Amino acid sequence: MSEIVEEIREAYQAVGIRLDQPAAYGTYYRLLCAGCGRMVGNVGDRLLPGMARQIVDEQFDLYAAGLLGCACGHQRDTTQRLNPERWRRSQARYGGLTEGAQS
Ligand SMILES: [Zn+2]
Repeated sequence: MSEIVEEIREAYQAVGIRLDQPAAYGTYYRLLCAGCGRMVGNVGDRLLPGMARQIVDEQFDLYAAGLLGCACGHQRDTTQRLNPERWRRSQARYGGLTEGAQS
């Protein structure tokens, strides 16, 4: 397994997504929900060092709000544990089903 694939794997693992075995020709990997195994997307291995982490980081708010990731909510739960403070801000921004806005 190449270094970049390992980096991609770690980046997605942080938000509750795991890499499947390489799809055709080993240039694309399926992204599977670490909670229920459902496929949630694809990622290519032509990324540059640091990019995978950056992509996942940019998507954090969407995972947190449940706008991206699996319908089972695993990424939403995982991001909450990963960064509770940022997670709360994401709920406010995207109007997720939260413990309510402060009033
Ligand atoms: Zn799932």
